[in-house]
Amino acid sequence: MRQTLIRLILLLFQPPVILEAYTTGFLSLPDSTWLTQPGSKVLMAGPCSAESPEQLLSTAKGIAAHYPNNIFRAGIWKPRTRPGSFEGIGDEAVKWLREVKCETGMRVATEVATTHHVELALKNEIDVLWIGARTTGNPFHVQELAESLRGVDVPVLVKNPLHPDIQLWIGGLERFHRAGIARLGAIHRGFHAYENSGYRNVPRWQIVHSLKSIYPGLPVICDISHIAGHREYLSTIAQQAYDLNLEGLMIEAHCSPDKALSDSQQQITPHDLHQLVTGLLARRVNFEDTDAMPMILEIRERIDEIDRGLLDLLTRRMSLASEIGELKRDHNVSILQLQRWKEIIDHCMTLADEKGLNREFVKNVLIQIHDEAIRLQSKILSEAGMVKIGK
Ligand code: PEP
Ligand code: MN
Repeated sequence: MRQTLIRLILLLFQPPVILEAYTTGFLSLPDSTWLTQPGSKVLMAGPCSAESPEQLLSTAKGIAAHYPNNIFRAGIWKPRTRPGSFEGIGDEAVKWLREVKCETGMRVATEVATTHHVELALKNEIDVLWIGARTTGNPFHVQELAESLRGVDVPVLVKNPLHPDIQLWIGGLERFHRAGIARLGAIHRGFHAYENSGYRNVPRWQIVHSLKSIYPGLPVICDISHIAGHREYLSTIAQQAYDLNLEGLMIEAHCSPDKALSDSQQQITPHDLHQLVTGLLARRVNFEDTDAMPMILEIRERIDEIDRGLLDLLTRRMSLASEIGELKRDHNVSILQLQRWKEIIDHCMTLADEKGLNREFVKNVLIQIHDEAIRLQSKILSEAGMVKIGK
């Protein structure tokens, strides 16, 4: 009973996203230079969907005029939420994409969701395949696609799944890696959110950051169109992706966006695409070769000092939590003291306001600390064995 309660408490206080390093899997990824050179960005622009040979070619020529190295994207088989909306032209449009490649010299890319799509894409010399968010969420489908690509040397970009599960995203990448795909990359297209954030899909930069920390060689590009859902937000999101030094952008562009058969609100003309891209500020990878270097070193030293102090404080706080754990054990008192927890939160929220600290941030830190205190106390109680309540 007590064990179940403890497990329940631990479950309640799980952070929403598990960010710790995924320890098994591929560690031998080639660096991101297969996609882009350090200091430059890759662009994957093109319409949400291929609609007609004319629409495809007119959009492609508009983009190629400024970006001959663009990887031209176009959806051929469209995963739509409800049947009856435009579900893509299907098989016939693969040839149109090949024509774009011949006419403009740009590489071309499309989404594949079945082994039939893979077969047709390869037969028509599509240069890059991407896996859509709905497919990444289904390991059966991903495995089937990976098997169909075994022994094929084609680049594959894996979009994040609809919900913020980094393990599922990594799992998708790993399945292709295990099937021998060497030119792998990830696409951040935001995550479904129940609350209305203004964006169609919420970007979770922390998850991208974790992915990058686990696999520094993995190129990650940002699909700003499916994050934004509306063209007015595109440049803000694109700049954030640049600020994080992601390897590039996927942007939906259409010769007549308002007439587009899918995602018309988020598509822009090749002209607006050029305006958007030229308005972005590329950031240096680090401070090297800047005159801020001595200052940054000094500030970092001070930060290290503060971190040492924080760890000292945490050690002291955890040792007090253990002392309380022993008292709870000796007096047979339950671990979770809701009233006390509420007092801590209220007190710290007042302090956060006084100090001008972000409330959400402070709350998250406290939740992490409380989680660890619960873990320590549960260990103390479980080591003492099961004690009958009311003894
Ligand atoms: C797309 O890129 O056209 C698409 C359908 O994206 P997602 O899988 O991210 O929804
Ligand atoms: Mn789209």
